[in-house]
Amino acid sequence: PRMSTPTHTAVEVAGLSKSYGPVQALRSVDLTVKSGGYFVLLGPSGGGKTTLLRLIGGFIRPSAGVIRLHGADVAGLGPDRRPTTMVFQSYALFPHMDVARNVGYGLRLKKLSKPEIAERVARMLALVGLEGYDERKPHELSGGQQQRVQLARSLVLDADILLLDEPLASLDAKLRKEMCLELKRIQEQVGITFIHVTHNQEEAMVIADRIALIADGELVEEGSARDVYEHPRRRFTAGFIGENNIMDGRVTAVGDDAVTVDLGHARVRVPRAAATVAEGAAVSLSIRSERCRLVPARDELPDGTQVISARLIDEVYQGLTTSLRARLDDGTEVTVRELANDTADSLSPGDEIQFAWRIGDARLHLD
Ligand code: ADP
Ligand code: MG
Repeated sequence: PRMSTPTHTAVEVAGLSKSYGPVQALRSVDLTVKSGGYFVLLGPSGGGKTTLLRLIGGFIRPSAGVIRLHGADVAGLGPDRRPTTMVFQSYALFPHMDVARNVGYGLRLKKLSKPEIAERVARMLALVGLEGYDERKPHELSGGQQQRVQLARSLVLDADILLLDEPLASLDAKLRKEMCLELKRIQEQVGITFIHVTHNQEEAMVIADRIALIADGELVEEGSARDVYEHPRRRFTAGFIGENNIMDGRVTAVGDDAVTVDLGHARVRVPRAAATVAEGAAVSLSIRSERCRLVPARDELPDGTQVISARLIDEVYQGLTTSLRARLDDGTEVTVRELANDTADSLSPGDEIQFAWRIGDARLHLD
């Protein structure tokens, strides 16, 4: 039984900054992580994700700002006095110890009794799917199994918040996907808060309840996995998550429901974002590649369809989907993804075509 429930706040940071000498790794980040969910810090390498995680865990001190864990300010508390446990990216297992001794290591340090250690280790091995592996040595395990042992070794310490820094980075793509689902299952089963750092957007989409996008030391955007994928507010988010076609332009007219954007070579209508938008504003719009179509130049399209003339570059069969690339008149390349058997085979490279989408599928970005 845990004190925390999903409605409570596990982590709250406010105005959090960190500099390493002249390098500003984190700039005034405000972020709230609810208790009991799977939270992912996502972003390009060098953006400040590890710094944020290490600040939360107490391994480094902030240059400015406040960190509260379960409501309590933890300034000045070291890692062992916080309700957090860190799973390090390259936290090697002890090679000479078997699995059970590796998992029980932290409990022996805490001087728990032998029977209690044995009981908790057995429970953790069952949780991570390694029942019966007690006596194996690390070198007798696959990469994925070693990962599970590391996870068990951290979970056994019974922290309220588990911090994971790129825990799947060393696994191949297939195993990574499998471990993603495992991590999610384990988080749901134990019910504690997981905060997981990754630069891999597919991993984040599979695993996260909520995602915070971190880049260049700043929090770009935070929301549910579905929100940041389907309704990115920022241009950067649209560029980083999923496969989006992004076009820059200027607002020429503002209507009740839609704005007109001049792209230079074409004018299109875009749903008016909730945010205020003024005539003359520099904006961008994004459309997911699976929401666009490439159609022959003369085809009639339903009302409300937005169209830009283009030329087909090529078509690449990728199994489940086919990816089609086209070039707009200003040189911008766009990508359209179709289910493989939907692809019209009447188009050839160089053909004049229309790049088209339903008006409601474009998102307006004010930055
Ligand atoms: P991420 O985990 O998103 O890749 P980091 O938090 O590791 O990003 O790094 C953020 C920035 O801080 C980078 O520019 C990195 O080079 C710098 N940095 C990280 N740790 C240190 C350190 N110990 N000393 C100096 N610079 C550091
Ligand atoms: Mg990192």
